[in-house]
Amino acid sequence: MIRNPVPWPDGAKCAVALTFDMDADSILHLEHPEDSTSRVSAISMLRYGPEVAVPRIVETYKRYGIKQTFFVPAWCIEQYPRAVETMLEGGHEVAHHGFIHENPTDGNRKEQAYWLQRSIDVIARATGKRPRGWRAPLYNFSDHSVDLLIEEGFVYDASLMGDDVPYVLRTKNGSLIELPAHWGVDDWPQFVQSMDLDYMMPIKSAAAGIDVFKQEFDAMWEYGGLFVGVWHPFCTGRLARWLEVVKLIEYMLNKGKVWFAPMEEIAAHVRTCIDDGSYTPRIDNLPYYTERVVVTQAK
Ligand SMILES: [Zn+2]
Repeated sequence: MIRNPVPWPDGAKCAVALTFDMDADSILHLEHPEDSTSRVSAISMLRYGPEVAVPRIVETYKRYGIKQTFFVPAWCIEQYPRAVETMLEGGHEVAHHGFIHENPTDGNRKEQAYWLQRSIDVIARATGKRPRGWRAPLYNFSDHSVDLLIEEGFVYDASLMGDDVPYVLRTKNGSLIELPAHWGVDDWPQFVQSMDLDYMMPIKSAAAGIDVFKQEFDAMWEYGGLFVGVWHPFCTGRLARWLEVVKLIEYMLNKGKVWFAPMEEIAAHVRTCIDDGSYTPRIDNLPYYTERVVVTQAK
C-alpha cells in the first residue's frame, strides 16, 4: 500500500510524532486586532493551553519516557515563557510556527523572510538553538517558503500533506525533508467550536474524536508510515480528551514496534537513510507551478 516505507530504527513498524502547536491566543489577536483584548472568554479558552494543558502533556510524556515536538509562535514564546521552559525541561523540541501565527501566503517574499528571521531569533534566545523545523501557521506554506527555509538552514518542514511517509522538497537552491500530515489527524475538525475564531464544528465525544487518530495510527503501523498528530494544547489538552490520548499512547506502546521521536530526530534519521542508500524518497521539485493556471473555454 505504501511503495517505499522508511526503514525505521530498531525494526519499528512506524514512527509517531504527537506534535502540539501551542498557538495560545495569538490566533485571536491576528483574527480580531481591533477588539481581541475585550474577548476575554476566548482568551481564557486559548490560555488554557500554556497554563493548564502544557504542564499536563509534558508530565504524561515524562511518565511514558517519550520526547516530542512543540511548534510555538515566537509571540507565544515571549508571552508564555513558563510553558516553553516546561517543554525544554522535558527535553522536547521547540520548533518554528511563525511569529504571531501570521499567514505567509498574505505577504511578499521580503515580509515572509522578516517574520521567519525575527522568530528564529526569539527561538534561539529561548532555547539556545536555532530551530530545525517549521510548520506554517494554518498549513499556509507559500511558494516562497521552501527557499526561505533552505536559506535559514532548516532541516525539515511539517506543513504539507503530500504523502504517508517523509519525502523530499527540492528546489534549485537545495532540499528539505517533508514530514507530512493531513486534516484527518488535526484536532480542530473533531473538537473546536469557537464563534470568535469562526470555526464551528459539532464537537465529538472525547473517545470518538481520539478514535479517528487511532485508526490513522493503525493504518500507518500496518504499512510502515509516519503518524503525525497535529494537536493543540487548548483543545486536545482538555481533561477528558487527554485521558483518551493517554489510553492511545498506552495502546501504541502495547502494540509495540513504534518509534516515538521528536520531528528533528525523524528528519535526521530519514536524511541518514537517504545518504546511506537504505531509503529512496519521493522527490517533489518545487515550485509546482511557475505561472498562474488559467484554462479557457475552446472557441
Ligand atoms: Zn497553529
